[in-house]
Amino acid sequence: MKQLQLKDLYHAFRDPKTIKSLALLIEKEAKKLSEPLHIMEVCGGHTHTIMKYGLKQLLPKNITFIHGPGCPVCIMPKDRIDHAIALANMEDTILCTLGDMIRVPGSKSTLAKERAKGRDIRPLYTPMDIIKIAKENSDKKVIFFAIGFETTTPMTAAVIKRVLDECIQNIYFHINHVLVPPAVKAIMDPGKAKINAFIGPSHVSVISGAKIYEPLAQTYQTPIVVSGFEPVDVMEGILMLIQQKNEGRCEVEIAYKRSVTREGNLKAQQMIDTYMEPRAHFTWRGIGDIPNSALRLKEEYAYLDAEKIFSDILPKAPVQDHKLCICGTILQGLANPQDCSVFGTSCTPNSPLGSCMVSDEGACNAYYRYGGL
Ligand code: SF4
Ligand code: SF4
Repeated sequence: MKQLQLKDLYHAFRDPKTIKSLALLIEKEAKKLSEPLHIMEVCGGHTHTIMKYGLKQLLPKNITFIHGPGCPVCIMPKDRIDHAIALANMEDTILCTLGDMIRVPGSKSTLAKERAKGRDIRPLYTPMDIIKIAKENSDKKVIFFAIGFETTTPMTAAVIKRVLDECIQNIYFHINHVLVPPAVKAIMDPGKAKINAFIGPSHVSVISGAKIYEPLAQTYQTPIVVSGFEPVDVMEGILMLIQQKNEGRCEVEIAYKRSVTREGNLKAQQMIDTYMEPRAHFTWRGIGDIPNSALRLKEEYAYLDAEKIFSDILPKAPVQDHKLCICGTILQGLANPQDCSVFGTSCTPNSPLGSCMVSDEGACNAYYRYGGL
């Protein structure tokens, strides 16, 4: 019997014939639209797929994409990165975080540059690896600079549970977990963005369930379809959005039924609620303060909270973005990466000036890599 290979799992979702058939159906349905459809793909993972597979080029002119704020690296303000750098510079400290965060510019440096200077900064493959690091370094403070949307928050909650269950004394948390619905609200409320449909994030919805978008669909009268990350998934999501528009519906639908339900992962939601609560204010890079858009540790876990315990050494002043960087405007759906005067010249993935150029999920990064397709 033929052994199952990884590509067998995704092959059908990248099949060019299926993508072309969906493009034809989209073209037919799009002719019936009474107005152009401006679709915001909230999540950076979708931006990456759209650019990598050239989906933009397959669509009729009355369907356009607007790239959203759904990359946890892109939206992290410089002052939070300055916090991470200050923490990493304390004596006897190991600072751990996820992936690309170490490359994002703070006001004067990046975690990667601090590491090159000798600070102990470790990118984690999975948050749970911090347990082993803490046990092997019991004489050091080990700080988890926790980032991500609803997707990664349960992993942080699981680490907190393990720390408590095993009475580990040397791990502290600097929580930067952010929430999708308040960010979408902040983009829509000023009424400047011309968005009239949304592709909802995939991983976020696996945890929180598609129900979190229902108030948005009703308030802004926009269809929302939660789609998977493969090109066939995204094309199917677009078709469903057009069909909703043509039928005068503004609902939340799930195209990614193999992973997403309306209710989400209740166990993960419960674990988050045990340890974390919304914070009144959180500044998003380029967007500014969005009320109730992020989480923090509950007061009863203050003894684990690096922001409280080490508050004396954390810089307090807000920091402005590079004056030429328009990440904020891009994240609000008001500009495209190519509108930035330093795109691809002074700002490239190897030398990013702004956060949207750092991560694979950043709009500028995706345009730089695949924009010439
Ligand atoms: S973690 Fe997943 S759902 Fe969240 S922004 Fe990244 S790719 Fe999108
Ligand atoms: S190209 Fe660079 S500087 Fe311009 S908006 Fe994107 S990240 Fe910012």
